[in-house]
Amino acid sequence: MSKKEKKLPKYNIMTLGNTAVGKTSFIIRYTENSFSDTYLTTLGIDYKTKIITLENNKSYSINFFDTAGQEKYKSLAVNTIKKAHGVILMYDVTDKKSFEAISTWMKNAIDIKGKDFPVMLVGNKIDLVDRREVSTEEGENTASQYGIQFFEISNKFGTNVEEACSGLINLVVEKNSNEKDGKSKGSAIKINKKNNKNKEKKDCNC
Ligand code: GDP
Ligand code: MG
Repeated sequence: MSKKEKKLPKYNIMTLGNTAVGKTSFIIRYTENSFSDTYLTTLGIDYKTKIITLENNKSYSINFFDTAGQEKYKSLAVNTIKKAHGVILMYDVTDKKSFEAISTWMKNAIDIKGKDFPVMLVGNKIDLVDRREVSTEEGENTASQYGIQFFEISNKFGTNVEEACSGLINLVVEKNSNEKDGKSKGSAIKINKKNNKNKEKKDCNC
């Protein structure tokens, strides 16, 4: 990281959700534009940094913290949530249990951060069409119940990965700049589109 990059405003994003829903794959897809079918075991907390530029030409350094879903790492996750500015709350559309666990993860996050905290609900693995156990509507209903945004994604093909991340980063930047300025909520700042075309894996620059 250059000296200039070190001085950029920093925000922490963390992933939450059951084991194997695709949290680590999501961070790798977004920060490195790659994907592996091999299972990646998360041994506690690790993070990756990505510099993003918004449409207003301001750049931000975003730290993506990875967490394991296992109960034994819960205390580590709590410390990370405390430092987080936003959360990616993830389930696997082929695993109903991971969807049912969303309410518990959400409660954990609200207990620590309160209700007015940027959270993006993400249903992953939509490429596994034949194995789907959770409908799009169920995901949408849960998101509207909590008043949060929602995307269905595929880390494997890069579908909506950029959109879900951009959406959350917009909320985080907006919330924090409003807090600093003491202003009420304005319109969301948009991510600079020219760097962010990743509907397909081959196009992903994220
Ligand atoms: P984590 O425990 O939540 O961090 O999950 P991982 O990122 O380690 O992913 C668990 C498994 O799901 C790995 O074998 C990944 O390759 C696989 N996986 C992750 N995302 C996707 C996806 O979008 N589609 C498919 N088919 N598999 C995925
Ligand atoms: Mg992991």
